[in-house]
Amino acid sequence: MDPEPGPSSSAGTDPPPPPGPSQAPPQLSRYEAQKRRDWNTFLQYLRNHKPPLTLARCSGAHVIEFLKYLDQFGKTKVHAAGCAFYGQPNPPASCACPLKQAWGSLDALIGRLRAAYEENGGAPDSNPFAARAVRIYLREVRDAQAKARGIPYEKIRKRKRGGDGGGGSASSSGAAAGGSSSSSAVAPAGEVSGGGTSS
Ligand SMILES: [Zn+2]
Repeated sequence: MDPEPGPSSSAGTDPPPPPGPSQAPPQLSRYEAQKRRDWNTFLQYLRNHKPPLTLARCSGAHVIEFLKYLDQFGKTKVHAAGCAFYGQPNPPASCACPLKQAWGSLDALIGRLRAAYEENGGAPDSNPFAARAVRIYLREVRDAQAKARGIPYEKIRKRKRGGDGGGGSASSSGAAAGGSSSSSAVAPAGEVSGGGTSS
């Protein structure tokens, strides 16, 4: 099942402004206009790439590089592991952690670019935006941001309790865990997997 980029992730959805004076015609839908802007942004990125990079030679690794490049335009605070607000959705103060692109923005962006690539003549089986590495990267970003921001983008699989519970008897979690009875026993382990790549 694919995670739906919900409407809650409204902050920081705007990538950098499109290069050049070309404006999308007004009859385009919002999605189509955004897709065109994203595509132009990516082509511009390729043009400025050093060493030069053509679309035909673009791989999933280059797409990931592009996503990391976009982080500098992000507006979403992602706390570092050492920050006091790590894992807090609403920190009481500001901190020096960097702003990044929210996972939901990147996920939606990749979807648009994947479509644009094929609409512009790219073959589906060479689509770098559909590369497995890109899927894996997005999943890692999602999980890392969910932890850092304290916001589960979807049901977080299994909540890890402090310490490694290597006590020998690996009984069913939740039942044997004394003290605070968490609700973690409800989530079936390993059921939620993003792209079906579970190895
Ligand atoms: Zn922070």
